[in-house]
Amino acid sequence: MATIKIISDSCTGCEKCIPACPFSLIKLEEGKAHIMPGCTFCGACVEECPFDAILLEEEQKEVELSAFRGVWVFAEQREGEIMPATFELLAAGRKLADALVESLSVIFLGDAIDEKVDELKKYPVDRIFFVSHPLLAEYRTSFYTRVFVDLIREFKPDIILLAATSMGRDLAPRVAARLKTGLTADCTSLDIDKEKRCLVQTRPAFGGNIMASIVTPYHRPQMATVRPKVMRPMQPTSLSSAEVIKLQPDLRSEDELVKIVGKIKEETNVVDLQEAEIIISGGRGLGRPENFSLIRELADLLGGAVGASRAVVDAGWIPSYHQVGQTGKTVQPKLYIACGISGAIQHQVGMRSSDVIVAINKDPEAPIFNIATYGIVEDLNRFLPVLMEKLKNTSSGRS
Ligand code: FAD
Ligand code: SF4
Ligand code: SF4
Repeated sequence: MATIKIISDSCTGCEKCIPACPFSLIKLEEGKAHIMPGCTFCGACVEECPFDAILLEEEQKEVELSAFRGVWVFAEQREGEIMPATFELLAAGRKLADALVESLSVIFLGDAIDEKVDELKKYPVDRIFFVSHPLLAEYRTSFYTRVFVDLIREFKPDIILLAATSMGRDLAPRVAARLKTGLTADCTSLDIDKEKRCLVQTRPAFGGNIMASIVTPYHRPQMATVRPKVMRPMQPTSLSSAEVIKLQPDLRSEDELVKIVGKIKEETNVVDLQEAEIIISGGRGLGRPENFSLIRELADLLGGAVGASRAVVDAGWIPSYHQVGQTGKTVQPKLYIACGISGAIQHQVGMRSSDVIVAINKDPEAPIFNIATYGIVEDLNRFLPVLMEKLKNTSSGRS
């Protein structure tokens, strides 16, 4: 536990520290600063004091880094089904574990989960932790946090990956805070610094203008949440000889602070962009909102979903749930057709893992061509009607 105190002899009562405290915990008493209970030891006041009158001493507890081994993937389940993002994390985790010559483990929390053992055993993982309890059937912040933290403290993994979904974003920071370790949220790529045996976690920063590579050099485990759909999923091999570790935690319902009284599913007729195999996206190059009819028509012809750049969403041409990119959805379809989209980095991070990217843009220098599988330098108002006419003339239109 850290400590903080005012060195009375040095404090001049200048009051500079008072507005610096984000929690309004400093007041002046008899001409000297006084810190009230509740201090988070953020250090803001220390930096502000011109007389070095505030002494913040942090507990220095050296972490034995080599005691932490292996890569863990948290298997997100909903209603007992393992979510697709888990298999993307497993593929990334396998590469990291191989680079470190360590094991890869998958952690599944749930209830009545025996059939999931067989499902996960088809994948090339080394260990499967099954933690079973009726109170873990659905995600509950407090129980999941407690069970996961206890497991980590006992087995000491080196790296932990969670999906950057609503569940992962809720669970990961709580776990990291309890373990007093670092967490990089929303990573778009992961690598290993082999020399330092550190996880290099890359994510967009400063409004997406740069890609930041973040490391956790002094604490363990190293934790990251990863955006769904930016990595390719692991494929089953049916050769896995994974060790299965079954655990049953001691949980009591009276310890639960939050009660789930019901669930209401949002009803929507909109095609789920993240699940679509074909996406036709339109950008500012469409010229005007009415021209989105070209994109919708092509999407109908190909059986795909409609995507959009942020520029056209901001302009009100199309609702925001169509937006692809850093502040929109991350997609990984088999075919992504970008029409009149320049390919700004913030758009690319949301779609560059697509299998095939076709870009239609009249500017041959547009950055979208750097990642396109096929580039068509043409005015989309000329090209799209011709393409659709050809498609309609084929026997099935979808072939
Ligand atoms: P423009 O950049 O204006 O490009 C239009 C393109 O159309 C040009 O390349 C032009 O050559 C071409 N064109 C014009 N006329 C024609 C024609 N007749 N035929 C063919 N081509 C034509 N953007 C996103 O998309 N998703 C995000 O999630 C996102 N998040 C962001 C987050 C932050 C913090 C910031 C700062 C920005 C974000 N952006 C995002 C915005 C991004 O930086 C770009 O501004 C945006 O993607 C540009 O959209 P656009 O390609 O439609 O428009
Ligand atoms: Fe306030 Fe932070 Fe100073 Fe504590 S360390 S008194 S929370 S500014
Ligand atoms: Fe005292 Fe430093 Fe605060 Fe000034 S800034 S009141 S010297 S503790």
